[in-house]
Amino acid sequence: MKLAVNPPHLFSACLLCLSQFMLGCGGSNSPSSQPTLPTQVSPPANIEVSGITYQPWTHSDLTMYVSDQRLASADNTTMLDLINNLTTLSDTFAVHRQPWLIHLHEQSPAIAVQAGYFYLPVNANDSAAEHTVQLISQLILNKRHSVNNNGQALTLADVLLSQAFASLIAQTQFDIENPYQNLTHNEADFIALHTVLSETAKQPFSPTSRWLVGDSQLNSGMGNALMQHAIKQAHIYYPGSDYISLSTLPLASFLPFVTHSAELPMPINEVTLRTPDISEYDQVPASEMHQLQHAHPTYYLHGLHDKKQVALSFDDGPSTYTAEVLEILAKHQIHATFFVLGQNIQNRHPDILAIHQHGHLIGNHSYRHTDSSTISEHSLLWQNEVTNTNDIIFDLVGYAPRLFRPPYGRIRSDQIEYLASRGMRTINWSIDTRDWHTQVVNQQDIEFAASHYSHPEAVILMHDGGGNRSNTVAALENIIQHYQNEGYQFVTLETLLGIGRAR
Ligand SMILES: [Zn+2]
Repeated sequence: MKLAVNPPHLFSACLLCLSQFMLGCGGSNSPSSQPTLPTQVSPPANIEVSGITYQPWTHSDLTMYVSDQRLASADNTTMLDLINNLTTLSDTFAVHRQPWLIHLHEQSPAIAVQAGYFYLPVNANDSAAEHTVQLISQLILNKRHSVNNNGQALTLADVLLSQAFASLIAQTQFDIENPYQNLTHNEADFIALHTVLSETAKQPFSPTSRWLVGDSQLNSGMGNALMQHAIKQAHIYYPGSDYISLSTLPLASFLPFVTHSAELPMPINEVTLRTPDISEYDQVPASEMHQLQHAHPTYYLHGLHDKKQVALSFDDGPSTYTAEVLEILAKHQIHATFFVLGQNIQNRHPDILAIHQHGHLIGNHSYRHTDSSTISEHSLLWQNEVTNTNDIIFDLVGYAPRLFRPPYGRIRSDQIEYLASRGMRTINWSIDTRDWHTQVVNQQDIEFAASHYSHPEAVILMHDGGGNRSNTVAALENIIQHYQNEGYQFVTLETLLGIGRAR
């Protein structure tokens, strides 16, 4: 089949993105001091890989084009197949919001999907399936680079990590032979690569590096093989992760795993809610949280290792208190996670943009704070609370959260599994400051709970919305001081759990 016709919208495509390694027009957010409202996202540019030009098409462009062709040759089952496949891919993408999906269609070119665009070679005679890994690698690279590097130059580290992810995904999902998996490597290789990555993480990318795939010199492909190893180690280190959820983490998350050592620190056995049940409070009992945690690797109360890290989390915003919280966090140059409500975002776009631009992570706390456990149908939970909220966030900041915090911490076993099947992870907390109970809890109570029960890789529950949060704001300074005095590092839940964003 031929797909040599330009879809109509692409004639106005982003001409600024001429370089193979630039995707600045994909809706990325450069940091700036003043939040700005999002503008219309331009269609992405063509991607050139291994001498083949891939062009982005929307689902409706392709369906229309393929339908036209079908009228001309009614018995063309390839095209019927393609329409069906595109519809399935389109639905799957809408559900999972994975960074990309790939598809190898019999007799047709490789198709890769990203942010609603299907990439096909301009010249259908190219045997693009052979280049699928490179195509995916390029899509991952473009996305990772536009979000993680804040306008800095592309580095060798970016390229190697993206190539390794592409190899792993293609290999595991599509049974594509991976030429780099059987390269033997030793400790010296790892040490050399670690040095190279550390040194080049801030230096511009050079296509002639001997570590890159396609280089005919010594060590060709070695960088890919070693990076695959690092990704696999990270996957083991972070229970509940998968290649998709890891693929958008920053490079720094993988550097500790560029080592030959098989001795990874094992996850801790005891995962517990530290703040004790208070019988007169209407809360999910600790026993229930522990039970769910044991049953589901995708349900978290806190981090699973013993690093001196702590994750502050703020629920029920954004609200009038959000800016005050952001100011205190900025003063100490620390990052936190905000579980926002879809209904609160509508009139507070600048707050969401400020959270994002200050480097904090945004999580999903449902649309209208409905007790998830009372929603019988999975599809209702998904449509009315989760994905609509994710869509709003995606439109504003360019990624959809992968972390869901159920309102009141209430969620059923089957719902945790359902969300996991759609790429979401469920995260509650290990320390409840009970700042939500404004009638009885004062500033000192909040400070006491947050500091008295401190432990490595703690997740602390607080609120920047949903009521009068002046006590929370007042307590925050002392809580930060306490953990800093104890030598803790403040991290987002993305860093703590190894679960990246959906882009
Ligand atoms: Zn809440």
